[in-house]
Amino acid sequence: MSTAERYPVVVVGGGPAGLATSAELRRRHIEHVVLERGESAGHTWMNLYDSLTLHTGKHLSTLPGMSFSRSVPFFPSRRDFVAYLHRYVEVFELPIETGQLVTAVEPNGTGWTVRTDAGDIGANAVVMATGIVSAPRMPSIPGRERFRGRVMHSVEYRRPAGFQGRRVLVVGVGNSGGEIGSELANFGAHVTMAVRRSSDIITAPPAPATTTGTQPCRNGMLAARQITASLNRLMFYSTPSSRQSIASHMQCRHRMWTS
Ligand SMILES: Cc1cc2nc3c(=O)[nH]c(=O)nc-3n(C[C@H](O)[C@H](O)[C@H](O)COP(=O)(O)OP(=O)(O)OC[C@H]3O[C@@H](n4cnc5c(N)ncnc54)[C@H](O)[C@@H]3O)c2cc1C
Repeated sequence: MSTAERYPVVVVGGGPAGLATSAELRRRHIEHVVLERGESAGHTWMNLYDSLTLHTGKHLSTLPGMSFSRSVPFFPSRRDFVAYLHRYVEVFELPIETGQLVTAVEPNGTGWTVRTDAGDIGANAVVMATGIVSAPRMPSIPGRERFRGRVMHSVEYRRPAGFQGRRVLVVGVGNSGGEIGSELANFGAHVTMAVRRSSDIITAPPAPATTTGTQPCRNGMLAARQITASLNRLMFYSTPSSRQSIASHMQCRHRMWTS
């Protein structure tokens, strides 16, 4: 890409938000380019854990102008969603440039200079659609430097292989924490879930009961059922809000996993 290039709009990120923005710009005949750091659209979704299934039904998970095909289950798998994103790019012929890591966006007097590894691009407007997964937050926990086990963020987790028989602490029981914890427990890891507040045990038909640290809702049912299935293999640990308390727990158990 040459420095001479200039667009009315540059969209940074080819995930669902960037692609939806691009489709709407195209519909309005506004010239633009989507810059994606990965090798294809949906890079985040291509690299999340294998077993990930959307928690939002497919009717709530579409981008503007295109439904999922009838053959896709009500809760699409990660692979279904990636295929959907790739198809979306094809159907709407979106102008996506892959392998373009945006390193800076700076005002230049008349608009913006978007800096990439391959050169600079001028833009009148920039849409940042880089998502949250590309900037995972690992809280600093006192005592972590003394912990000798492996510490990883949930965005690095792929599959349970290698964790059988190991003691794992999952910190945080949102959708990813709940799913990863239950998957590991079902695989034979000894899992402790650290929950900041007490967790509710609720009825979730057709399964008998479920527990989750998040608000019970219809969209959470899938993750909730998975947690339910492994309830007898999971140990829950309610942490006060203090990180110090998590650190003491880590020192006792010598395993920690952040989510
Ligand atoms: C485990 C998990 C499960 C989820 N399940 C659901 C669900 O069921 N339903 C739901 O609605 N939401 C779900 N979400 C939330 C989900 O992240 C968002 O719905 C959706 O992916 C956000 O889209 P996005 O385009 O904003 O971000 P992303 O999907 O993260 O896309 C951002 C894109 O920007 C690119 N990028 C980042 N930085 C740069 C850069 N500097 N230069 C160029 N490109 C860059 C990335 O490679 C990526 O392709 C889930 C999230 C996680 C982590």
